[in-house]
Amino acid sequence: MSSSVITDARARELRRDFPILAEQVHGEQLVYLDFGATAQRSTAVLDVERDFLEHRNAAVHRGAHELAALSTSDFEDARDTIARFIGADADEIAWQAGATDALNTVTLGIAAASRGRGGDESVPLRLGPGDEIVITEAEHHANLVPWQELALATGATLKWVPANDRGTWSIDDARAVVTEATKVIAFAHVSNVTGMIAPVEQLVELATSVGAITVLDACQSVPHRPVDFHALGVDFAAFSSHKMTGPNGLGVLYGRRERLAQLPPARTGGSMIEIVTMESTTFMDPPTRFEAGTQAVPQVIGLAAACRYLEGVGMAAIAEHEEALGALMVERLSALDGVTVIGDDASVPRSGLAAFIVDGVHSHDVSQFLDARGIAVRGGHHCAQPLHRRLGVTASTRASSYFTTTDDDIDALVSALGDVRAYFGADR
Ligand code: PLP
Repeated sequence: MSSSVITDARARELRRDFPILAEQVHGEQLVYLDFGATAQRSTAVLDVERDFLEHRNAAVHRGAHELAALSTSDFEDARDTIARFIGADADEIAWQAGATDALNTVTLGIAAASRGRGGDESVPLRLGPGDEIVITEAEHHANLVPWQELALATGATLKWVPANDRGTWSIDDARAVVTEATKVIAFAHVSNVTGMIAPVEQLVELATSVGAITVLDACQSVPHRPVDFHALGVDFAAFSSHKMTGPNGLGVLYGRRERLAQLPPARTGGSMIEIVTMESTTFMDPPTRFEAGTQAVPQVIGLAAACRYLEGVGMAAIAEHEEALGALMVERLSALDGVTVIGDDASVPRSGLAAFIVDGVHSHDVSQFLDARGIAVRGGHHCAQPLHRRLGVTASTRASSYFTTTDDDIDALVSALGDVRAYFGADR
């Protein structure tokens, strides 16, 4: 893995690998600062997908013809590449439709185990009245709503680590909520609103001390920093391909081998079965039993190409670059009159994003104003309504970077924002 530092010159060079970043919008050069919502595709990924579709495309694990053999071998090679990228074994990752889908596979699987599906093997995952599920108040809806549904389905109680006035939380806040009754602790590795980097090792230790399992929403960490699931020791994790320069429509569920073996499948049908009679069915071992139906083969192969590309850039270098950009955004945005950045101050390391509130101007107006200058950011609640409610606002504007982002992009953002309150008459 490369470890070279990403200078602005290097970021500009890497940007040339992403055709869309050369686009103009409203006659202005695009400044794309919405990587937290979706990253863009490099020619490396686009070329690999196209080449696969033109020369080897076929459904995998079925059919005896040559194309089926080629596509199956590409598909399983890709599984090896992606597993290596996240510090997992190949049989510990299952393809899903996205991170949201992967988190639902976990919650629906636990619900099924709690109904008695999966037999004796699934007993460790069973929940019922008196058991507790712990999340945080800062979660993305994808790691909140499925747990609400699971609590409703099982009679377990949903609790949360409260967010402080800045929208962040600490391991001590978590210790105050977790009890001997806690069976699951689910949390984001990196917050998509505050950029907070969660104390994963300490939370895993806390979970282990009460016999709870850990579920990591790794959507904003796997694309942006080196992540090794074995080293972190989490039980389950989920992330999305499209946020790491891979294709859309694909997510990854990671599960420690023994945990995946305990989880009953939430979706059933073709490809995940052993023996089917009219009365009943036996399922394949993980990960195949979590991959019902025809697989998203070009997407999987595209994601492997994305992982190779990111390895070439260097994940440690990406993390360093983005933490510097995160700190720069916090410093420069906080210095603007009437702008408040959500989250900790610049002295606390955060991922390369900043959500902020502009006094007197709604985030949708801020976003449109920036868009007119070619700057793409995200306005709204970022799928984190409870966190915004906790902070007394309904929405914020978020700028999120990647390894192609330069200091000039932040300059453009800050300079445009300097005019926004005057434009809307909010400075009077
Ligand atoms: N969790 C976090 C922290 C996210 O930022 C997102 C995407 O915005 C998700 C979960 C859901 O990912 P997806 O929409 O790709 O399923």
